Amino acid sequence: MKRHRCIWVWVVALGLILSRTPGNWESLAGTANLTRQNIQLPAAVHYPLPPSLARIPPQGEDYFDEVQPVEVGYLLWTEFPITVAIEPPQWDPNQVWQRAAEQAIREWSAYLPLKIVDPSVPANIRLLSQRPATSNNGRARFAETRYELFVDSQGVLRHRCRIVVRPSQAPKFVLAALRHELGHALGIWGHSPWPTDALYFAQVADPPPISQRDVNTLRRVYEQPTRLGQRLPEWTPHG
Ligand SMILES: [Zn+2]
Repeated sequence: MKRHRCIWVWVVALGLILSRTPGNWESLAGTANLTRQNIQLPAAVHYPLPPSLARIPPQGEDYFDEVQPVEVGYLLWTEFPITVAIEPPQWDPNQVWQRAAEQAIREWSAYLPLKIVDPSVPANIRLLSQRPATSNNGRARFAETRYELFVDSQGVLRHRCRIVVRPSQAPKFVLAALRHELGHALGIWGHSPWPTDALYFAQVADPPPISQRDVNTLRRVYEQPTRLGQRLPEWTPHG
């Protein structure tokens, strides 16, 4: 039986700290070092631009300079559709959280193929409503995104993302957080300096929709090389 060899590398991205004053989304934490685990990584390659992004004419500015490549290159998806599982809170009156999650997925679906899957099966991205496990200086995070790297049964380097957004906020902020964190999970691993972008680094009173600048940035991310989706050079079947 094939097993998944797992390299559990995680990054805490960008959580909003609960506080009395408007908070900034967290800055990026460092990744664990893959080379320390003696894993020889595949070479980085360019993939064709997904048609849903390619058909959008690039116009105006982006904030690509704020996007950080991670240890395996840019954090982009190489197979589509990207599967997303939703795990709403047990107590969710009027399905506020669930609907916000579905809407955030629908909004990003205009730019990349996303597919909602049952939470009982594996997914590329998992949206969770539980309390984020990590805290910053003892204060709870409102939202965060992490990614994990692993090698699948075919020896291919892959990642998956886990987004946690607490349900204890006004619906528009839950939606804004899910939209923002999904942007990270789809590859925008950084923040915009402009408050009119969904990936702005701070929470704003009237959260904006996904902007042209967000889309331009996403497009540039998918034009970059990554080691993800490639087979490890020294991989041999086992199990
Ligand atoms: Zn963020």
